[in-house]
Parts: sequence; C-alpha cells; structure tokens
Amino acid sequence: DVTATKGNEFEDYFLKRELLMGIYEKGFEHPSPIQEESIPIALTGRDILARAKNGTGKTAAFCIPALEKIDQNKNAIQVLILVPTRELALQTSQVCKELAKHLSIQVMATTGGTSLKDDIMRLYQPVHLLVGTPGRVLDLSRKGVCNLKECLMLVMDEADKLLSPEFQPLIEQLIKFLSLDRQILLFSATFPVTVKSFKEKFLQKPYIINLMDELTLKGITQYYAFVEERQKVQCLNTLFSKLQINQSIIFCNSVNRVELLAKKITELGYSCFYIHAKMLQSHRNRVFHDFKNGACRNLVSSDLFTRGIDIQAVNVVINFDFPKNTETYLHRVGRSGRFGHLGLAVNLITYEDQFNLYRIEQELRTEIKPIPPLIDQAIY
Ligand code: ADP
Ligand code: MG
Repeated sequence: DVTATKGNEFEDYFLKRELLMGIYEKGFEHPSPIQEESIPIALTGRDILARAKNGTGKTAAFCIPALEKIDQNKNAIQVLILVPTRELALQTSQVCKELAKHLSIQVMATTGGTSLKDDIMRLYQPVHLLVGTPGRVLDLSRKGVCNLKECLMLVMDEADKLLSPEFQPLIEQLIKFLSLDRQILLFSATFPVTVKSFKEKFLQKPYIINLMDELTLKGITQYYAFVEERQKVQCLNTLFSKLQINQSIIFCNSVNRVELLAKKITELGYSCFYIHAKMLQSHRNRVFHDFKNGACRNLVSSDLFTRGIDIQAVNVVINFDFPKNTETYLHRVGRSGRFGHLGLAVNLITYEDQFNLYRIEQELRTEIKPIPPLIDQAIY
C-alpha cells in the first residue's frame, strides 16, 4: 500500500523552508515509502539504486533532495536528471519547477527534436538543474555550452532504459563531463541484469532500495480477451461502450498501427488523440499537454508513452497489441493506478500472444483473468 509509511513527515528532513512550502503546495502531505527511503540517504551524498513500483512518487524522491542540495547563489549546473523520452523530460522539469516555486533555482529542460540554438542561448543564463534526454545533453556538453564540471548529482530516472544498448554508450560518455565526486542516483520500477555492470563500474557502495516485494501491480485489475486480429477493433468498440473510462491509453506495437487505430476509433465516433516517436516534436508536445489537461478521453500510443508518464486521470490501459516482454507490460499497465488510485488493464490476446501472456503472468507473479461480461465499476 503506497500509504503504508513509517510515519515520517517532510519536516523531519530539515529541508529549506521554501522547498517545504513547494512540497505542501503541490498537495503532498506525507512522504511516500520510496520518498521516506530515498530522501534522507540522498541528502547524505550517497549513491542510490532504487526500485519502486510505478506511480509511487519516485520523481519527488529524487527531485526533493536534488533541490535541497542546490546552492542557488552559485551559478552552475549542480544537478543533471536524465530521462529516456522527451515528454518525460518536460514532465519531470515541470515537477521540479513546481517544487522549487518559492526558491530561486533555475530549472531547464533540454531534449532532442527542439532547436539546439534556443538551448544554447538559454544556457548563457543561469541554470542550476538540467533535465534532459541523453543525446541532447551530450551534444551540448561536447559543444562546451553545457558545463557539468560542478554537477554533483546525476539522477537517472527509468535507469534500466537509460542503460539499454540504445543509450548506455551516450551515458558513459556523458559521465566523463561530470565532477569526479558526483553522486549517482538510479531509479526505476524494473532493474534487469543489464544494470549490474554499470553499477559495478560507476556506483560507489550504493544504498539499495527495493520496494518491489509487495505485489507489483497492486490496485490494477488485469483482464484479457481472446480475439482474432481482425476482431480487435470490434472488441475495442465493445470495451468503449461497456467501460467507464475516465481517460485511457491504448497501446499498439508499431507507429503505423497507432495511426491506423486512431483513425478507426475516430470513425467509431469516439474522441481520440495519438502519439508516437515519428511525429514532429512540437506536435508531440501539444498532444501530451492537451491529453494531460483532459482535452481528450483516449490516447493511442506506441511505446513512447510506456514509461514514467504520469496522468492521474488515466484509469484504463488497453493493450490493443500485446507487448513482447515483461518490462514493457509492467510499464504500460503502470500508467493507470497511480499513487494509490485503482486502475484497469485489458489485454487483447491473439493466438500468437498466448504464450507471452502466460510467461508475463508468471514472471510478474500476477493474475490476468479472462474478462467477465460485467465489470464492477468500483474496481477502477
Ligand atoms: P513514479 O515515478 O514512481 O511512477 P510519480 O513520481 O510519477 O511516480 O508520482 C505519481 C503521482 O503521485 C504523481 O501524480 C505525484 O504528484 C503523486 N505524488 C508523489 N508523491 C506524493 C506524495 N508524497 N503525496 C501525494 N501525492 C504524491
Ligand atoms: Mg517515474
């Protein structure tokens, strides 16, 4: 239970008064378990490897100590937060800005797909905390416009994704630009073995937090429906008519299928947005922003939106295409049921998906049940 804490209060951490004000104004009353574990340790300067389930407040678990440690009178980037997607960079920088509302800490987000020149101009002004995607931050560091010599804290959110073959070489190069006595914090809900070599190479006696013993997908009821590929849209139509959707995310396995499905859903008469990595960044930002503000009930997405995205109104996740691996499943389904809210996940399963369904169920030690004719509204 995300509310099952040790009973600590944010006051217990002796944070700057202005930071405490930001925390309370954001509506956080008590630290969540991952925050109770990580804030005091991070403040001591120790490296951390933290695993906690989706939607339990990991962002604030690193943003609060990061903001506390920044000396706002010093004009230098002191904290670097890396994330795997552009939308997550914007979301995370927004959280930092809100928490730092009463401080004079300058937060900047930098991601690919936006004007490099604008970022360079922005970096001529003071920046204390930089949130970004690895490629762009590396680019700026190599050009010498982004100075990380005084950066004492590196946070990697969705760390296992950042250490996948796609990103790891960039990360290792980036680390060379940081101060030698930097502190490194790794956060994720999933830590496959790939993280091990990085841990051994770069972390110093990390403090390990693992809050995954409890049921990982607690609060989320998971169903499957057996369908043939050509029945999927019809099945979705039935789901739309039966479910009480507050907001939903519908996942497809390819960019093409995202666009096709979005078109079909619109033809069925339901409002829907779509998002995927091949769209123009400005368009992506608009869709993300508008969906988060509730402008549309349904969002069809590729795995771009699988990790980290926090939209509390999402109570239903539909895997229109079933994911191939367990991590993807866990992160997708974790878009609902955030911070103690309930959620519903419905998986459309074809003949080919059966084995994967079984395997994922085993690996997560969870239960994905056949969808009943009537779904109790109270469970999501
Ligand atoms: P995670 O990264 O672990 O998946 P997030 O950091 O995105 O989770 O947080 C999930 C939601 O919980 C966010 O909407 C956030 O504002 C909210 N939240 C985080 N910490 C607290 C807290 N201490 N009290 C109340 N709500 C919180
Ligand atoms: Mg997160």
